[in-house]
Amino acid sequence: MNNNSSDVQKKIDTVITHTGRHPKSFHGFVNPPVVHASTVLYPDVETMVTGKQTYSYGRRGNPTTDSLEEALTEMEGAAGSKLANSGLNAIALAILSCVKSGDHILIADTAYGPTRHFADTVLPGYGVAVEYYDPGLGDGIRSLFRPETTAVFTEAPGSLTFEMQDVPAIAAAAHDIGATTLMDNTWASPLFCQPLSLGIDLSIQAGTKYIVGHSDVMLGTIAASERAWEKLDTFCGAMGSHVAPDDVYLGLRGLRTLSVRLERHQRNTFTVLDWLKDQPGIGKIRYPALESDPGHQIWKRDFTGSSGLCAFDFRKGTTRDEAYSFLNALKFFGLGFSWGGFESLAIPVRLNGMRTVNQPEDDLQSVRLHIGLEDPEDLIKDLDQALKQALK
Ligand SMILES: *Cc1c(COP(=O)(O)O)cnc(C)c1O
Repeated sequence: MNNNSSDVQKKIDTVITHTGRHPKSFHGFVNPPVVHASTVLYPDVETMVTGKQTYSYGRRGNPTTDSLEEALTEMEGAAGSKLANSGLNAIALAILSCVKSGDHILIADTAYGPTRHFADTVLPGYGVAVEYYDPGLGDGIRSLFRPETTAVFTEAPGSLTFEMQDVPAIAAAAHDIGATTLMDNTWASPLFCQPLSLGIDLSIQAGTKYIVGHSDVMLGTIAASERAWEKLDTFCGAMGSHVAPDDVYLGLRGLRTLSVRLERHQRNTFTVLDWLKDQPGIGKIRYPALESDPGHQIWKRDFTGSSGLCAFDFRKGTTRDEAYSFLNALKFFGLGFSWGGFESLAIPVRLNGMRTVNQPEDDLQSVRLHIGLEDPEDLIKDLDQALKQALK
């Protein structure tokens, strides 16, 4: 289908299926071609010098990258979107597009670790002051604003510890002082949370996770509001940012099944956690979609679903050796970083030293789980046997 029916109101599943595709431009083929390109030829020198041609040079985009950017722009209700080499690259590009020397940026204390590493190691060298904020502040974030505050970076739920934050309140406060708002929305994906509708200017995805969905590509995406788009577009162009077409194609392919995969990740996660919460040896479950979670009300208000990423704490007094033997005993859960693929994964979480505003209880042993597309009964059996081996 071509996109000339954009005046028809479409639900998100229909958008995901049709967006970014222009079969008529490609002999009717359903998917866009994977365009490997640097040089683009012009028909004559007049066209060349006036730049009146859709494509000018490989680095500036091609029909494959356009297709995914167009899809994200439509899904996120954005003015425009840019692709990046990884989720972290998207975060770095988005932040650098809206801060300059002398500025102050506020970043959620619960942001993804490598986001903090980027902020701590790169930004001060460019004269940008970095300050972390308590994700529970909401509108109270105003007390941290300085005359030179120009950006506020949110992430909900927080990496590894899963605290929610009141993004609309934070965004409204930031806009009152003209600051740009950013959100790492990787956990929910654009399917279950649409940051721009919450007042965010730059909505970031580690496309590596659910958009790609098969653990085989690194990809990042940034969708921008009207007020942030031009600066983002100019900045990414100036940085020479470009993503290889094969990777972009796999992102597009993954996107088409995002909704059906997430529905199953969500269902399996509820099934597994419903069992896990009652097991001896288990402390807190960290997953905002559970009614018992402190962030549940905000999650319910701002999100339309939940993904397969969650965590649990062992009960107090569990040793590191016990937590490690649990992880080593797992058979279906792989031990590996990243997440968002079809498979289940587990990692140990060391809360100690991870934050600078709110120190989590550092004697707790935690585990982050990604609940994959396996049969949840098998996942439960696996967790059960590993718990029994580890906590004798
Ligand atoms: C994985 C992840 C990233 C980084 O994505 P990469 O593609 O691995 O660079 C950023 N934010 C969150 C929340 C993530 O989980």
